[in-house]
Amino acid sequence: MILTTSRLPCRSNPDLFFAPDGQHTGTPLYNARVESARALCHGCPERIPCRDRGRALGATGVWGGEDDIDRVEAGSSIRSQRWRIAA
Ligand code: SF4
Repeated sequence: MILTTSRLPCRSNPDLFFAPDGQHTGTPLYNARVESARALCHGCPERIPCRDRGRALGATGVWGGEDDIDRVEAGSSIRSQRWRIAA
């Protein structure tokens, strides 16, 4: 997730972009949350650089419409859970 401007779609609901404690990948709640986040990313002008940054960081959460599984499939390794929106 790009951290620069308050006008980015993810700023309106940052909790959609990171799994709360106990929400596991692939569960119905996880999938519903990620799909909602992806819908916000879909029209975002920062989608491609955001996706690439998430891959480069090995971040967790939804970045540029990709979740952890997408990034691993793209060759990224998950390294950090610290990359979140700075409120
Ligand atoms: S692509 Fe998604 S996560 Fe990245 S800045 Fe845009 S809305 Fe936020």
